[in-house]
Amino acid sequence: MSQPSNDQKVAESPPIEDADGLRAALAAWFAQVGRDYPWRATEDGYEILVSEVMLQQTQVATVLGRGYYHRWLEQFPDVKALAAADEEEVLRAWEGLGYYSRARNLQKAARVILEEYGGEFPRSLDQIEALPGVGRYTAGAVASFAFNAPVAAVDSNIARVLARLFDFRECIDTTAGQRQLLQWAARLVPKAGGRIWNSALMELGQNVCKAKSTVCDRCPAAAWCQASEPLALPVKKTRAAVTVVDEHVLLACRRGKILLQQEVGRRRKGLWKLPSRGVEKMPGLSPVDKHNYTITRYRVTMFIYEVEDVIAEENERWFRLEELSNLPMPSPYRRVVARYVDRRGKATQSR
Ligand code: SF4
Repeated sequence: MSQPSNDQKVAESPPIEDADGLRAALAAWFAQVGRDYPWRATEDGYEILVSEVMLQQTQVATVLGRGYYHRWLEQFPDVKALAAADEEEVLRAWEGLGYYSRARNLQKAARVILEEYGGEFPRSLDQIEALPGVGRYTAGAVASFAFNAPVAAVDSNIARVLARLFDFRECIDTTAGQRQLLQWAARLVPKAGGRIWNSALMELGQNVCKAKSTVCDRCPAAAWCQASEPLALPVKKTRAAVTVVDEHVLLACRRGKILLQQEVGRRRKGLWKLPSRGVEKMPGLSPVDKHNYTITRYRVTMFIYEVEDVIAEENERWFRLEELSNLPMPSPYRRVVARYVDRRGKATQSR
């Protein structure tokens, strides 16, 4: 199969007859089966932006099932509350969702909305896309879901559905492929508004036209679908292989306190973790425990070295165990620390 170049010509109109029929069929189907997500029951731009940013790299089951969305809106009910919060508070509320730059950007966006728009959520696609951390997809989703703007929002579900509907056999994760799908999606959005249309396409991708299975005989778009081999689509570039890495950290505890190190790297800046300071090279120390976790394309084995007393280095601080619940800490370290606190509690009880 030929690889598209970035300047490949994009067909503006999708190869479809009776697009109105497809729109009507999807709208009718969605009215019957569309799920009642809380972000579908609001037209508040901020609440929808929060849901979209949370869902960027996290499943609905986590965002809703583990209460992240509701807790966030209780703690930061509007842009004013989020703009005024301490960064540490914001990161703590985000803990467990990962990709912490999303939380930082949400707060920056809240501040922009407050300062540049007097707290009123901007309505145009360009204004929304100019907010920190907001890309073309998120802007389209917020504009269509909150304001019913007739704009496209092509997420991975919609990209898959469109690729199958139009039997699109080029890579969908090249610039040219993305541009083609966006162009078709933009032409398909009903002029009256994109809220129902985009929601229905997403729902179709989530429940009917899924990545590894399709239910074509119950698909409301089947009469328009051109895919001859749905599961062979969409075509994507080969993904980067998983890299296995080891991490060595110090679990240093003394008199009810634990030593933590503040992250300075871009991804987790400001969060607290177990110190890693070349501990594996320290003579006489060997790991007492290990913990496996995955982050992006890395499969990490964390080796834990327990020591009683060390001197805090730069970016490190001793914290009382009671203080930990208010500190933002990436989940893998939180789990290891929780295990230690649990063990310590049991040891104290058995004395
Ligand atoms: S008919 Fe099948 S392949 Fe086509 S959109 Fe529906 S579920 Fe997907």
